[in-house]
Amino acid sequence: MLNNKRLIIMFKGKSNSTSKRSVCIIGAGAAGICALRHFTDHVDHFNPIVCYEQIDNVGGTWNYTEQTGIDKYGLPIHSSMYRDLQSVFDTLLINPLLINSFYFYSTNLPMQVMAYPDFSWEHTQSFVHHSLVLKYLEDYAKHFNILPYISFSTRLEKLQRYNNQWKVVIKRLEDSQFETHYYDIVIIGTGRHSFPHYPPLESISKFNGNIIHSHDYRHRESFHGKRIAVIGGGPSGFDLVIELSTVASFIIFVNRGPNQFENLPINIEQLQGEIVDEFDENLIRIQMKQSGELKQFLIDCIIFATGYQFDFNCYEDIGLHLNTDDTIDGLYRHMINIQQPTMLMLGVCQRGVLPFPLYHQQILCFLKLMIGEIPMPSIEEMEQDVKEYDQLRKSLDIRDVDRHSLKPGIFHHYIDSLECFGQLKPLSKGVLKLHLDLNQIRIKNLIGYKKMTFKVTDDDYQLVSENEDGDLM
Ligand SMILES: Cc1cc2nc3c(=O)[nH]c(=O)nc-3n(C[C@H](O)[C@H](O)[C@H](O)COP(=O)(O)OP(=O)(O)OC[C@H]3O[C@@H](n4cnc5c(N)ncnc54)[C@H](O)[C@@H]3O)c2cc1C
Repeated sequence: MLNNKRLIIMFKGKSNSTSKRSVCIIGAGAAGICALRHFTDHVDHFNPIVCYEQIDNVGGTWNYTEQTGIDKYGLPIHSSMYRDLQSVFDTLLINPLLINSFYFYSTNLPMQVMAYPDFSWEHTQSFVHHSLVLKYLEDYAKHFNILPYISFSTRLEKLQRYNNQWKVVIKRLEDSQFETHYYDIVIIGTGRHSFPHYPPLESISKFNGNIIHSHDYRHRESFHGKRIAVIGGGPSGFDLVIELSTVASFIIFVNRGPNQFENLPINIEQLQGEIVDEFDENLIRIQMKQSGELKQFLIDCIIFATGYQFDFNCYEDIGLHLNTDDTIDGLYRHMINIQQPTMLMLGVCQRGVLPFPLYHQQILCFLKLMIGEIPMPSIEEMEQDVKEYDQLRKSLDIRDVDRHSLKPGIFHHYIDSLECFGQLKPLSKGVLKLHLDLNQIRIKNLIGYKKMTFKVTDDDYQLVSENEDGDLM
């Protein structure tokens, strides 16, 4: 953990006489530290620059904790990270089916494509344990010397537009003191994987077994011999079914999306369908998407890997609207507050994105707008841009609820247009190419793909090995 005592509390958040603008960043996860790294390169334009972080380290969700529920300050645990499958032998003993296809919990993207463009991943390994991602983020923060700007154990309590500035109320968690500061620019990097989303299911109270959300899943120990339903085919869903297949007696993996995984362990039944809101004791019913057939299963436990929702509780009159389907109205390119363009909101785009490179490009673009290197579009231009994106989305049959979900193809289109708008150095073609291909690689080989090692160059990528021994099998 980093030492909070290093913080230089010299920043009081007022614009100073030389008319430099003050900047407040909320959250020191991958988004917040990236914003700090770039804004602190421009202290000739911005001063003070302050980042408030409620926990005592950088890295956000990559700070694994055994704890679930609430922390020592009574706040909801932020991290949704689960422990790893450390031991190959353990895995083999329990599920010999995985002999040729060890599956460790590690990143679900190769580090070479996860990394920020200006701080490369130096190791050869591609899929790494989450502790190494945390180490990478800590190293990034140290390398760019941004720790002195972070006020740890400090939580944003309220954000409001006030007299042409941002009124920021914070709470110092160690002594419960509240403070109010005013800033010219605010950057929100509070993450979007902390507040669980559950599908609305009225009869779920009739279910007798255990129910948890993937946010509270830590390890497989308590699932030995259980019959489990994992709902949701996103990264948490597919990670958990593979991990749990080593201990559970049977898993139904309810994945309504078009991507159905191949070659899964035999104790996993993959169902392309929807849960039916008719729970009964230990019974769960699934309606199959293609045939309409109703299937029912006796299970002990349901794990909802059904994603997360935004938390807007701290915000008052900020000019954005959170819809009931968890989309946000009022954001230009999913990031800039149209009515109050001195606010950048990071982490809104999800699914199929490359979070660290995305933050890097979004922040550079916003920085150029704030410095005046590129002109800020008018409100009308920004609203028109949102309309055009909506038309494109509808022509591709992307639902309103998936407005911020940028599947890889759309993500690449988004990044291209951002790079063009911000006159930015493009992300490497090799990174984008591997990112695009990875979905198919994963679908074909869900239990083996994390053993693969890739080499990524500016223009292309290569599969270097398919297993831990470095062999191309
Ligand atoms: C289980 C899991 C696995 C993942 N695997 C991958 C992967 O393999 N590859 C990948 O690229 N991405 C992965 N992700 C996505 C990951 O969320 C992003 O990569 C990225 O780390 C998000 O960074 P962030 O800064 O937006 O959010 P977070 O990491 O959530 O950071 C937000 C920070 O804001 C702080 N904060 C929140 N509210 C307040 C407040 N009111 N006041 C002060 N501070 C506050 C939090 O404490 C936290 O430190 C995974 C996510 C999860 C949950």
